Amino acid sequence: NIQAEYLIRVRELLPSGKPLHFWGIGHPSTFAFFVALGADSFDSAAYALFAEDGRYMTIEGTMYLKDLEEFPCDCPECSRYTPKEVKSMPQEEIMRFLARHNLHVCVREIKKVREAIRGGWLWELVQMRARYHPKLLEALIFTFKHFKDELEKREPFSKKSGLFYSGEETKERPEVYRAKKMLRRVIKVKRFFSTVLYDQVPIGLRYTYPFGQTHVPGEAEPEEEPTDEELISHILQYQFGPEAVNAFENPIVIRSKSTGMPRQVFDGEERVGMIRHYDGMFVPSLEGARKLVRVLPYPRSRVVIKRRFAETVARGTTVFTHFIEDIDPEIRPYQEVIAVDDSDSVLAVGKTILSGLEVEEFENHPFMKVRHHVLPRESETN
Ligand SMILES: [Zn+2]
Repeated sequence: NIQAEYLIRVRELLPSGKPLHFWGIGHPSTFAFFVALGADSFDSAAYALFAEDGRYMTIEGTMYLKDLEEFPCDCPECSRYTPKEVKSMPQEEIMRFLARHNLHVCVREIKKVREAIRGGWLWELVQMRARYHPKLLEALIFTFKHFKDELEKREPFSKKSGLFYSGEETKERPEVYRAKKMLRRVIKVKRFFSTVLYDQVPIGLRYTYPFGQTHVPGEAEPEEEPTDEELISHILQYQFGPEAVNAFENPIVIRSKSTGMPRQVFDGEERVGMIRHYDGMFVPSLEGARKLVRVLPYPRSRVVIKRRFAETVARGTTVFTHFIEDIDPEIRPYQEVIAVDDSDSVLAVGKTILSGLEVEEFENHPFMKVRHHVLPRESETN
């Protein structure tokens, strides 16, 4: 707990742009946890220190070579020898064997953590690892309870993978904390569905992250299907705030003929966006973005671009942090946002890479991937 608390405090003080090197993180079962708290790299000699002590690492915990009859591992070292053969080696060779095996276990876990970050299931991995030792679970619960806001700030707004329930601590996860907070801005709701993690959720959000992607044992899918009006109203309010409900006069949802899932969104004759299949988020078209900007209070959901970069962004270039004049501080990574110029005209729409609060901390870092832009690309005009 002291290590976790220390790490979060340091993370808070350091700009996110600076890699955080964390010394002394020992056992690989803690790697996922410390990365989730903001550590970028480890410099641990634990694998060698454990080897000197005759300790054989596994991801589930540490064993002593002297107690082993079989190696529960298929790394090159463990495939070559039996524990009996290793035990009969000279002391120095035993240590070298253990160090090489322990290093394999650490490297394997680091690869898994990286894959979990890419796939959006890092907290799922942390929850799994927390089952290997009650102290680790205790540290996780402590962290969720005491650092909700710190963790929420860097947590992606949407993910491609599901949110898996693994025990009581799941209720305290940063995604759950945020979702419950954001639900308060969805107003004038007539129909809800009940959930274990989020309590009452407006029916229009049944396909939207994290509500539609959460898996809790014994929890059934909602029986009712939202109307077009409920879908649009609840999703827009959840993503952009209560004012967004006034953006479209006559919204119509076109559903997929094969699956019945909501897809394209029109306002009368005009296509204003789509509801994305994997996370149920509204992805505005340029016309949809213009209509949203008209009703959303400044600077909600906006990335305001400096005058000298406005044309670059309008032509589809990725928005870098130094292009940004002003920003909605509530913006989170992987959120649909609108790039505007200093007179609030739409330049582009796209998805963020960082949170709004991190713009100050990164000098020259990609911030927003542009999906649609108002001018043709440079190459198309030549
Ligand atoms: Zn091994």
